[in-house]
Amino acid sequence: MLECSRLFCELILRGVRVIAFCRVREQCERLVGAIKHELEALGRGEVVARVMGYRGGYTAQDRRRIETEMFEGKLLGIVATTALELGVDIGTLDCVLTWGFPYTIANLRQQSGRAGRRNKDSLSILVGDGFATDQHYMQNPDELFTKPNCELQVDLDNMLVKEGHIQCAAYEMPIQPASDAVYFGADLAQICAERLVRDTTGFYHCHDRFRPLPSQFVSIRDTEEDHFAIIDTTNNRNIVLEELEASRATFTLYDGAIFLHQGDTYLVRDFNPDKHIARVERVKVDWLTSQRDYTDIDPVETEAVKRLDRSRWRAYYGAIRIKQVVFGYFKVDARRGNRIIDAVQVDNPPVVRHSKGMWLDVPKRALDILVARRLHVAGAIHAAQHAVMSLIPNFVISAPGDVRTECKSGLKEFAKRETQRKRPARLTFYDAKGGAGGSGINTKAFEFVDLLLRQALGRVLGCRCEGGCVECCASEMCKEMNEVMSKAGCEVILKALLDEEIDVEALPMGPEEGSPAGVETVVLASTVPARDGRGLVAAGEDAVAE
Ligand SMILES: [Zn+2]
Ligand SMILES: [Zn+2]
Repeated sequence: MLECSRLFCELILRGVRVIAFCRVREQCERLVGAIKHELEALGRGEVVARVMGYRGGYTAQDRRRIETEMFEGKLLGIVATTALELGVDIGTLDCVLTWGFPYTIANLRQQSGRAGRRNKDSLSILVGDGFATDQHYMQNPDELFTKPNCELQVDLDNMLVKEGHIQCAAYEMPIQPASDAVYFGADLAQICAERLVRDTTGFYHCHDRFRPLPSQFVSIRDTEEDHFAIIDTTNNRNIVLEELEASRATFTLYDGAIFLHQGDTYLVRDFNPDKHIARVERVKVDWLTSQRDYTDIDPVETEAVKRLDRSRWRAYYGAIRIKQVVFGYFKVDARRGNRIIDAVQVDNPPVVRHSKGMWLDVPKRALDILVARRLHVAGAIHAAQHAVMSLIPNFVISAPGDVRTECKSGLKEFAKRETQRKRPARLTFYDAKGGAGGSGINTKAFEFVDLLLRQALGRVLGCRCEGGCVECCASEMCKEMNEVMSKAGCEVILKALLDEEIDVEALPMGPEEGSPAGVETVVLASTVPARDGRGLVAAGEDAVAE
């Protein structure tokens, strides 16, 4: 972060227009703060107003204002999340500065493409983070230029998805079905005839239903309906500072939290989860807060059951309850390597949300083997969840983060003292977006669950890493930094679910390095009832045989 802020300041002070990209909102805010601090330290406080943050959560009005000011050249630099990656025109820029490898090569190239004026050179800088992927590219920078983009997965069986893409394409350049079928498939002529507008020369154009801008009708990232209003009460202003999605609320809002907006610090005075409101006040402090929380993700109602192919075990789909609890926070000194200066307990009520998702109960046989080999049970579940979750974008159009899981934290899983929070042995996945009805991604993934499990197992068996990496069973999206991991245990769970043979003697003997055995935190899962209170029978199954 400090490296980025120094580079950013040196560049803008030389008249280079810069956009800095961050992976997540919190980084965006912290970088804006660091840049402002750096400018003051350089004695160039007058430039502070010419740098702005830009991220999801800011009000539409604020975002339009920042875009216009950047476009008109009033701003010299902007610090953004990927909210600015797609489609927003902010004029020409000279330099793109990327803090942390942005998940895929395609993302990095897309970000780099934001800089460059006609016939002039532009500059793109990647500042590596501490993650394994970042470090891989720091060691092998050539790959940034030579590695192909990963294939974009589009669900072309879905008529609505396909039509949306064709309408967008036709808007940019009229379509000639005979010659363009090579890109869009054999049924292009039919889709054009039924859904697009033909001109007198035989070319097809975007339909009026999709105008003025068809891309607005094609959601690439869908939105969430439930929001919390953050109200700035400084000097009784009482204005809405921003509107935060419910899924992010507990991890940013709790009494005593420091909330960052444009790099400035606001103290959360009053968080009211029932009314979806948080009152904040501008304060000048040189510490930030880092919440201590846990999230329980539990299926509450089974809506569909599916017998796994060539296995006696089943996968389930239904309603999921997400209970987020912030039980305290650390005050950290952000300027001195996040040193903890105080630990505070809070008594916030849990925030409960609902979504849709799928789950698989871990067979008892797998648990017995894990215990016998002293492999970390929670680590095995966590690793198996990641292995499956990171493959979902291969089957359903989705971005990393659209499907989430319950991440296991080292603080709890490695502790030696007894816990009240025993968790069922279960792999659970839920839709991060779409509210209680879900986004539909897990509905789709559920159809492919056999393939997902088999591919996940293939990746784990084929990966040469020691204890799990992002290529197999770790995840860059992990909320707990992949601390609790058992790659060998993950193999046991996936094989058990698929009813494959497990060579127990060939498994390593735990406890594994980095996963000290603590108290047992996992218990055998019990079947989640259907709405009428009875169990469901999977399609093609006469009776349920355990
Ligand atoms: Zn690996
Ligand atoms: Zn995780």
